Amino acid sequence: MNKNLTKPPLLEFLEKIHQSVSVYTSGSPADYIPELAIVNPDQFGIALTTVDGITHSVGDSSVEFTIQSISKAFVYSLAIEKLGSDEVLKKIGVEPSGEAFNSIRLNDENRPFNPMVNSGAIACTGLICEYAKEDAFDVVIDFLSEFAGRKLSMCKNVFNSENLTGDRNRAIAWLLKNNKQFDYDVEKVLDLYFKQCSILVTAKDLSIMAATMSKNGFNPITKKRVISNEAVIKSMSIMVSSGMYDYSGEWTYRIGLPAKSGVGGGITAVLPSEFGLGVFSPPLDELGNSVRGIKVCQELSSHFKIHLLHSEDNAENCIRKLYDLSKIRSLHNRKPIDEKTLNLNGHKSSVIELGGNINLVQSDSLTRAISKMIDKDFIVISLEKVSEFTSGAVEILKAFLSKIDDKPQIIFCGLRNQDLIISEFYEDLSESADPEILQFDNLDRAIEWVENQIISICGENAEKGKGLQQIMSQPILQNLSSTELDSVKQNLELLEIESGKQIIALGQEADGIFLLLSGKVEIALDDGKYLATVSSGTCFGELALISPKEYRQANIFSTTSCSCAWISAENLNKIFSEFPAIKSKMLLNLSLILVDRLNKSNAKIALGT
Ligand code: GLN
Repeated sequence: MNKNLTKPPLLEFLEKIHQSVSVYTSGSPADYIPELAIVNPDQFGIALTTVDGITHSVGDSSVEFTIQSISKAFVYSLAIEKLGSDEVLKKIGVEPSGEAFNSIRLNDENRPFNPMVNSGAIACTGLICEYAKEDAFDVVIDFLSEFAGRKLSMCKNVFNSENLTGDRNRAIAWLLKNNKQFDYDVEKVLDLYFKQCSILVTAKDLSIMAATMSKNGFNPITKKRVISNEAVIKSMSIMVSSGMYDYSGEWTYRIGLPAKSGVGGGITAVLPSEFGLGVFSPPLDELGNSVRGIKVCQELSSHFKIHLLHSEDNAENCIRKLYDLSKIRSLHNRKPIDEKTLNLNGHKSSVIELGGNINLVQSDSLTRAISKMIDKDFIVISLEKVSEFTSGAVEILKAFLSKIDDKPQIIFCGLRNQDLIISEFYEDLSESADPEILQFDNLDRAIEWVENQIISICGENAEKGKGLQQIMSQPILQNLSSTELDSVKQNLELLEIESGKQIIALGQEADGIFLLLSGKVEIALDDGKYLATVSSGTCFGELALISPKEYRQANIFSTTSCSCAWISAENLNKIFSEFPAIKSKMLLNLSLILVDRLNKSNAKIALGT
């Protein structure tokens, strides 16, 4: 393989950022906790984990450092998950404080401003202590480990150092206890708080933890749900307004991603539904944020325009293809009279192929498109290429469908997709038990069903001319004189075939041709891949006309009981030697049949179906 292709461009981009940001040497590691001051300030790592579970890492991305304040975002989501947001809101506000992380001031209601400053985080830790009692630290570290997808540990030296010097945090904790923010032993609450800050992580861990937030609480590496999306969304909201201490306003203005930093030199940032980022570089600016960490996020955000409020204009693109059935058809080969019926009436039915993620506004635009087709008899809506329906989109579409009376008849395909929302959508639809709404697993089957309806409603009596007389109307026998037709009739054998029988096997010699007089057969490959349907009035096994030396290209099974007129290769030769003109007539007819099939395939190719 070309070596250049093995390195993803996104990783190359991160390497470039790592190099360009390395020149920034300002700031210094936190020193108010003595143990943090002895870190090597040159360490610098970046890691980015995508929601599909790939981590790109550069530099010192596997070096462990203490998580510090970044833990606050995760422990807050744990509190919401375990106690519910109403309970947590009673104790901790959600407004930016406009003050340093270690400010001792509370808001007018004597509550901490938010969970990302020390007072709010210690109050939150108090709630976890009340909830988990003596097991509180195990609950916290196990929870953070689930986010990181590996068992995390704690740095005892940093814990001891912080415990010995953390009098300001002690003062905050006593103030909170005095205000009845928690009803627990203050030293135990502080013990948990210092321990949670001393948990060791790497930039790579932080990127996976953030990617788990990005995927609304589902860890893309372990493929496990860690937490509800509600709790994650609440925590990310406060990361947007207060995650970067007193730099938060400017952070959101410039970078626009939910993020959290810690005095250990880490920053974690989330691009919802896309990736999580972890950066580690110990030197901090005067507000306590990693200097290089901020630069990396700034570069990434401005270069790729990933500010949360930056939106691409793609509202009306959910309809990928729109066509009627006058030219585009299913894989069912039908007799000429039915083809004619479809040619004349196909325009009365439409197919809408949807794709991508369907949101509220796209669903609205879809309902407007359908309401312009209200004169159609059938509308097939294909969701085969839809990756997600938001719940708002489902609600709008369901409300619209419930207003359709008897026309047009809506047929869905691809509803039973893996995706949760689409399958919920399917269940809701079936629950509404509207018999007018049908569903098929694949688009071709849905189109075939609509064609059958059109033929039975608009076509001439389908089985007219059943039996031997029908042979004369077979496309392959057109323009034969009556003597020539008699010779064919004398050389054929009538076969009755039960439903579910294999009539032709791939690789066999092409030992004859079948004219289907009644019933239906299906053509498929060895792996079961469906190729086409052939119904009465047309033929199959036509390769035998060209040469019996040819091998069958596919398997053919009867899907109903069938009657066939079978002409063996031997008899064909007999017919051709008696009436040489029959051979050229039949070959010309075969060419016309193939040209027709080719035209249909071309129409599909032109549409990209
Ligand atoms: N353990 C630290 C403290 O409370 C966490 C602060 C931080 O990372 N901003 O002082």
